[in-house]
Parts: sequence; C-alpha cells; structure tokens
Amino acid sequence: MKFSRLFIPTTKEMPHDATLPSHQFLIRGGFIVQEGAGLYNLLPLGKMVQDNIRAIVKEELDNAGCNEVQLSMVTPYKLWEQSERSDAMGKEMLRFKDRHQNDFVLSPTNEEAMVTLVKNRAKSYKDLPINLYQINTKFRDEARPRFGLLRGREFLMKDGYSFHSNTEDMIREFNLMENTYKKIFTRLGLDFRVVQADSGAIGGDGSKEFHVLANSGEDTIVVCENCDYGANIEKIFDNDEEIDALNELSYEELQEKSLEQKCSCGGKLYFKKGIEVGHIFQLGDRYTSALNATFLDENGKTKPFIMATFGIGVSRLIAAVIEQNYDDKGCIWTKTTAPYMVDIIVSNAKKDDELNAGLKIYNELKDAGIKVIIDDRKKERFGFKMGDFELIGFPYAIIVGKKLSDGIVELVERKTGIKKDIEISKITDIVSQVFMVI
Ligand code: ATP
Ligand code: MG
Repeated sequence: MKFSRLFIPTTKEMPHDATLPSHQFLIRGGFIVQEGAGLYNLLPLGKMVQDNIRAIVKEELDNAGCNEVQLSMVTPYKLWEQSERSDAMGKEMLRFKDRHQNDFVLSPTNEEAMVTLVKNRAKSYKDLPINLYQINTKFRDEARPRFGLLRGREFLMKDGYSFHSNTEDMIREFNLMENTYKKIFTRLGLDFRVVQADSGAIGGDGSKEFHVLANSGEDTIVVCENCDYGANIEKIFDNDEEIDALNELSYEELQEKSLEQKCSCGGKLYFKKGIEVGHIFQLGDRYTSALNATFLDENGKTKPFIMATFGIGVSRLIAAVIEQNYDDKGCIWTKTTAPYMVDIIVSNAKKDDELNAGLKIYNELKDAGIKVIIDDRKKERFGFKMGDFELIGFPYAIIVGKKLSDGIVELVERKTGIKKDIEISKITDIVSQVFMVI
C-alpha cells in the first residue's frame, strides 16, 4: 500500500477527554474517530488492526471446533422477559418500538437469541455438543462510556455459546475454551492473566476472566507471585466499599499492597491492574430452563441443555494492545496486530532515485509476503514522515535517504529505536529473517 493512497489523518491535536494513551494515540494516529459518546468509527488503519485480531480469534476458535454464525443485532424484547433478565439488564439495554409498536432491543449479549436458535433444532443428545459463536456488534448504553475503545457503547464482541447433554461435557468444553483463549491472547502478543471471576448479571457458577496487565486497567486483580492463581477482587471480597476503595488506588499505590492471606501454594498474593478482554462462564441450565430449550437424553427423557458462554472484547483488544505497548511518541503494535509490518520511508519522494529505490524494496518485500507500506508522499518532509511512523507504531521502518548513493538504507525498530545500516541488496533477506525470529 502507498501512504499517498491511504486515508490516515494523523493529528497533533490531543482529544480533550482522552486521558489514556490508547485513546489519545488511536485518535492522533488516525485509527479511530469519535462519532458520539461511546461511539467510534474505525478508519482504514483501525479496521486493519481489528481485522487482524478478528482473524486470530476466528482461526483458533475454528481449530477448536466452534462454528461461526451471525445473529440479528436486533432481538425481540419478549425473549428478555422470558429469561427474566430484562430488569437485571437495566438501562444498559437499549429498548425501542418498531412501527407496529412491537418492542425490541439492540443486543447487549445473545444468550436468549442463541438458545432460541438451537431450541427445537438440536433435539437429541446425539446432536450435542454444539459450540456456536459470532463476531458481531453489541450495544450497551453504558452509564459512563469512557477511555475510547475500552468502554464504548457500541463495540465488537466475539460471543460464543455451547450446548451440552451434561455438566461434565460442558466443563470439558469450558476448559478447551480456556486453553483456546490462552492461545489467542498469546498469539496477539499480550501479557495476560486468567483469573477467577464474579459472574455478575449473566448468572452461573464457574467463571473466569482474561486480563491484559496494564497500569490503566479498570479492574483490580490479585495474582500469586509463585503459581498461576489469580482472582478478580470482586470474587474474593464481599464488601463493595472495600472493592471500590481498591479500584480507586493507582497502580503505584497498589504495588505497595500485598494480601495478608497467603496463596494456597504458599506464595505471596499481589494486586495488579487489568483490562478484561475475555470472560468465560459455566451457565448450566439458567437460560435453557427459562426458555424451555430441551433435548432427549439416552433414556428418552426430556432435559434442558447444559450451557456455557464465552466472550472476547474484540474492539477493546485494539486499545488493550496499546495500553501495554506504547511510549511517549505513540503506539507500538505487536507483530500480529500491526496494520503493516514495515514502513518504507522515502526521505525525499520528489527525488526519483530515492522513490524508485523505495519502490523496488517495497515490491520485493511484498513478494516475500511481508505486509509493507511505502511513505511516498511528496509534500511531506522526512521529519514529519518519521513522526507519523512513531505515532502510528509500525514495528519497523526502512529509511531510504542520504546513504542511498553508498547503496545503504537504514532499518529502524520502533520499539527500541535502534537503527542499523543495511546494504540495499541484502535488505529483503535481512527483513525476512528478522520477521522469522520475532
Ligand atoms: P465489564 O466488566 O468490563 O463491563 P462485562 O463483564 O460487562 O465487562 P461481558 O458481558 O463478559 O463483559 O462481555 C464480554 C467481553 O466484552 C468483556 O470481557 C469485554 O472484553 C467486552 N466488553 C464488555 N463491555 C464492553 C464495552 N462497553 N466496550 C468494549 N468492550 C466491552
Ligand atoms: Mg459491563
């Protein structure tokens, strides 16, 4: 892709309400544009990052045997009355009437719709298990939409729902999804922890959250220094005031605290801040009983499906990657989330020799299967192009400039800022090797 053909409206202006790095840099780097409170448009670069995340989520879920579907975003309100959670959803669930005065909602989550879809279609224990997922827009009229993509009102979620003939099989799938989620977040290049969680309005017993560790995280989690135990403080403290007080503390302040109790392994328990990017629940028959969704078991007896549900905040992940990977200059995308791996910066694109040398490298890298963009803009100076590279956060830049007459270009790593002179004839090989090992 040529920079000159891509709509990347970077800006120096700081959005007035943006306090977090991901919010500031995603707007300044030309990834997103705010449409209203908690409503964001994705620009080309933002869409590319989201598609990268979405592709990894889909690949790992499909590998684990899940089936992708797509449900209608508008659901009849009566489903929510049948499951008796219309009250619990409160004002977060946006309700409206159509022209015939029928009541509908913009889906905040899809347990009811998914149960209704499977009901009367999977009839026997022989049809089970089933694991259906979608990657679809959700709407929650959050009381305080904030922090850009981290807490929007409209956002992209992967929501999955599995149906089983018994609890053991549901727990097997729950464990499979836990492992699948670990693969997904590892592939995205994130430092994360799995923690025991409170089930909230969705109900059910066993529930685990996946948290990206970040100072700016809204959640406070407890992790063991020794083993892989972790829990959300909502799970381990009953007292809301105690939870609120801990959530108010800044990351520094939290570092000074460790829990009096000791982890069962003997290790010390520490507080950390996390961004919740995934949540998996063992639901049992909470929704299938309420909606009368049953199957025939081995003995011909009618039973409600045993269910589990699995969420990932796909658009929230865009911001979570940046909360974990940024510096004072801008974003630093991980290898798998970056919109492009390499930005070829043609120092002065008005000079034909520089532009042609840049284009030659560009074509070679493209042929080698590397996602590459060339900054061929004629009207921008080198310093401005470098600033855009740092703000946008492509993992690498190749600078074609002063040293071209000696057959040399510079390879810059965004994360470390380290620059290396490379012979132009070797650049494609070297870049290909670098990408093999990172
Ligand atoms: P939170 O406690 O952050 O409000 P939740 O428990 O309400 O999250 P779930 O109902 O489990 O969230 O939704 C599944 C996933 O969707 C969450 O793990 C989170 O990553 C994402 N998510 C939830 N609410 C939002 C939101 N307002 N904006 C962006 N992503 C969200
Ligand atoms: Mg919520």
